[in-house]
Amino acid sequence: MFTTPPTRDGPAPPDGRAGDWIPPIRRAPPCGARTRAGGPCRAPAVRGKRRCRMHGGAAGAGAPQGNRNALKHGFWSAAEAAERRRTAELLSAGAGMLEEVAEGAG
Ligand SMILES: [Zn+2]
Repeated sequence: MFTTPPTRDGPAPPDGRAGDWIPPIRRAPPCGARTRAGGPCRAPAVRGKRRCRMHGGAAGAGAPQGNRNALKHGFWSAAEAAERRRTAELLSAGAGMLEEVAEGAG
Protein backbone atom coordinates (compact mmCIF):
# COMPACT_ATOMS: atom_id res chain seq x y z
CA MET A 1 0.00 0.00 0.00
CA PHE A 2 1.01 3.61 -0.51
CA THR A 3 2.02 5.52 2.58
CA THR A 4 2.49 8.68 0.50
CA PRO A 5 0.11 9.47 -2.34
CA PRO A 6 1.56 9.50 -5.87
CA THR A 7 2.24 12.97 -7.25
CA ARG A 8 1.88 14.26 -10.80
CA ASP A 9 5.66 13.89 -11.08
CA GLY A 10 5.52 10.14 -10.74
CA PRO A 11 5.07 7.37 -8.22
CA ALA A 12 5.38 7.97 -4.51
CA PRO A 13 8.93 7.97 -3.13
CA PRO A 14 10.15 4.68 -1.69
CA ASP A 15 9.45 4.25 2.02
CA GLY A 16 12.08 5.72 4.35
CA ARG A 17 13.68 7.94 1.71
CA ALA A 18 10.93 10.50 1.38
CA GLY A 19 13.07 13.28 2.83
CA ASP A 20 15.85 13.44 0.27
CA TRP A 21 14.02 11.90 -2.67
CA ILE A 22 13.69 14.20 -5.70
CA PRO A 23 11.34 13.17 -8.51
CA PRO A 24 13.16 12.61 -11.83
CA ILE A 25 11.43 15.56 -13.48
CA ARG A 26 12.87 17.89 -10.80
CA ARG A 27 16.40 16.50 -11.25
CA ALA A 28 16.48 17.79 -14.83
CA PRO A 29 17.84 21.30 -15.34
CA PRO A 30 15.02 23.80 -15.81
CA CYS A 31 14.17 25.45 -19.13
CA GLY A 32 15.79 28.89 -19.29
CA ALA A 33 12.97 30.51 -21.25
CA ARG A 34 10.61 33.18 -20.03
CA THR A 35 6.88 32.76 -20.53
CA ARG A 36 4.64 35.32 -22.17
CA ALA A 37 3.38 36.17 -18.69
CA GLY A 38 6.93 37.15 -17.75
CA GLY A 39 7.74 34.34 -15.36
CA PRO A 40 10.29 31.61 -15.87
CA CYS A 41 9.24 28.49 -17.76
CA ARG A 42 8.81 25.67 -15.26
CA ALA A 43 9.26 22.79 -17.68
CA PRO A 44 12.45 20.70 -17.61
CA ALA A 45 14.97 21.29 -20.40
CA VAL A 46 15.32 18.65 -23.08
CA ARG A 47 18.29 16.34 -22.37
CA GLY A 48 21.47 17.90 -23.72
CA LYS A 49 19.77 21.24 -24.38
CA ARG A 50 18.98 24.33 -22.35
CA ARG A 51 15.35 24.74 -23.39
CA CYS A 52 12.21 22.66 -22.97
CA ARG A 53 10.38 21.05 -25.89
CA MET A 54 8.04 24.07 -26.14
CA HIS A 55 10.82 26.66 -26.19
CA GLY A 56 13.14 25.45 -28.91
CA GLY A 57 14.47 22.26 -27.38
CA ALA A 58 12.42 19.91 -29.54
CA ALA A 59 14.17 17.51 -31.89
CA GLY A 60 14.87 19.18 -35.22
CA ALA A 61 14.60 22.69 -33.79
CA GLY A 62 17.35 25.19 -34.53
CA ALA A 63 19.80 25.57 -37.36
CA PRO A 64 21.60 22.54 -38.81
CA GLN A 65 25.25 21.93 -37.86
CA GLY A 66 27.59 24.12 -39.85
CA ASN A 67 24.91 26.66 -40.83
CA ARG A 68 26.59 29.98 -41.67
CA ASN A 69 23.46 32.06 -42.25
CA ALA A 70 24.04 34.30 -39.22
CA LEU A 71 27.85 34.27 -39.26
CA LYS A 72 29.30 37.78 -39.00
CA HIS A 73 32.92 37.42 -37.96
CA GLY A 74 33.24 33.98 -36.39
CA PHE A 75 34.69 35.28 -33.13
CA TRP A 76 32.44 33.00 -31.08
CA SER A 77 32.74 29.97 -33.37
CA ALA A 78 34.14 26.75 -31.89
CA ALA A 79 37.23 26.95 -34.11
CA GLU A 80 38.02 30.52 -33.02
CA ALA A 81 37.40 29.71 -29.36
CA ALA A 82 39.77 26.73 -29.62
CA GLU A 83 42.40 28.96 -31.25
CA ARG A 84 42.12 31.51 -28.43
CA ARG A 85 42.42 28.71 -25.88
CA ARG A 86 45.60 27.40 -27.55
CA THR A 87 47.05 30.91 -27.60
CA ALA A 88 46.26 31.44 -23.91
CA GLU A 89 47.88 28.10 -23.02
CA LEU A 90 51.01 29.03 -24.98
CA LEU A 91 51.22 32.42 -23.26
CA SER A 92 50.72 30.82 -19.87
CA ALA A 93 53.44 28.25 -20.56
CA GLY A 94 55.76 31.02 -21.75
CA ALA A 95 55.12 33.04 -18.60
CA GLY A 96 55.94 29.99 -16.50
CA MET A 97 59.23 29.51 -18.36
CA LEU A 98 60.14 33.16 -17.91
CA GLU A 99 59.51 32.83 -14.20
CA GLU A 100 61.76 29.77 -14.00
CA VAL A 101 64.53 31.59 -15.85
CA ALA A 102 64.16 34.64 -13.57
CA GLU A 103 64.37 32.45 -10.48
CA GLY A 104 67.49 30.77 -11.82
CA ALA A 105 69.18 34.12 -12.46
CA GLY A 106 68.19 35.67 -9.11
ZN1 LIG B 1 10.36 26.22 -21.60
